[in-house]
Amino acid sequence: MPKTIPLMAMDFAETATPNSQPNTDSSPSADWQQQLARAITEPRQLLEQLDLAADTFGDFSAASRQFSIKLPHAYLRKIRPGDARDPLLLQIMAQSAESHEVPGFKQDPVGDLPASRAPGLLHKYPGRVLLITTGACAVHCRYCFRRHFPYAQEQAGRDQWQSALDYIRTEPSIEEVILSGGDPLVLSDERLATLIDQLQAIPHIRRLRLHSRLPVVLPDRITDRLVEILASSRFDTALVIHANHANEIAADEIRVLRKLQAAGILLLNQAVLLKGINHQPEQQQALSKALFSAGVLPYYLHLLDPVQGAAHFDVSLQQANELMDQLRASLPGFLVPRLVREIEGEQSKTPANEL
Ligand SMILES: *Cc1c(COP(=O)(O)O)cnc(C)c1O
Ligand code: SF4
Repeated sequence: MPKTIPLMAMDFAETATPNSQPNTDSSPSADWQQQLARAITEPRQLLEQLDLAADTFGDFSAASRQFSIKLPHAYLRKIRPGDARDPLLLQIMAQSAESHEVPGFKQDPVGDLPASRAPGLLHKYPGRVLLITTGACAVHCRYCFRRHFPYAQEQAGRDQWQSALDYIRTEPSIEEVILSGGDPLVLSDERLATLIDQLQAIPHIRRLRLHSRLPVVLPDRITDRLVEILASSRFDTALVIHANHANEIAADEIRVLRKLQAAGILLLNQAVLLKGINHQPEQQQALSKALFSAGVLPYYLHLLDPVQGAAHFDVSLQQANELMDQLRASLPGFLVPRLVREIEGEQSKTPANEL
């Protein structure tokens, strides 16, 4: 097992890219980069801002040392002050429960390392590859299956995309490239434009997909320039956002998602099924409806990957299946997500009814 590199280290490297705008730049893109640089990383500061007592989440120091907290102020504004059970707060706040060792919860639960074909390139499923463009994220989600991922070794960052691109070039079966991470939208517009240009030069690629949580974590990231970059490529383009709760989708998020939709980009959502956050039918119904109001269709609802430190979010398969029955009985089919699990060595995500 390679040594775990804390994500914080990668965050630092990312903010230090030569492409970062100087603080004097008043362009909208400098604005989101400044917001990102000012993200909250101190649990005590977060609790203070939310009028919560310092001991609300027990002794979180070991958990936050292992995987720092991180959220931009745009996400903080959607958290209800004084509510320790707020569904957004629970996704990002370090808790003492993360330090409990639970059998079956591992460091690399989805077998990413064996699927690596070049630095930062995962080829698990036929026809599509996933490119880890950066290890950095705008938010640190406590349940994240990549929380122990050795990004320093595996990311295709800086100008190391070359060997990933070489692999894609020699594999004509690859029709789709998925930009992932970390979060690909923490890259500057110009770095993304360069990467997308390089991909456009590979004739057998037809589809571009981005997996990003930024539209609901830092909506100002969706600059007009970004929309233009995505809309002007020759690819059929999909953006898979990641929202777990309806409260994540407020006016600013709806505005930027509608802008992307108007530019012809297919918008889908993937969520993770999380106890205490979205395991009740009412919560899932509200999420699906909020997504559709923003032009987004539910795609996957992932059963939690058994990653060390996230066991307190786990929902049993039986409970998850009952939830899906309730959703099918109450929502139009196109608002019901597909309940899946990622199993190492399989050719696709595995539907829950085959587990
Ligand atoms: C989830 C995943 C994909 C995408 O799977 P779809 O079913 O097409 O959404 C592709 N590559 C890797 C490595 C993945 O983990
Ligand atoms: S779930 Fe996505 S956005 Fe959240 S920490 Fe993991 S990779 Fe980053």
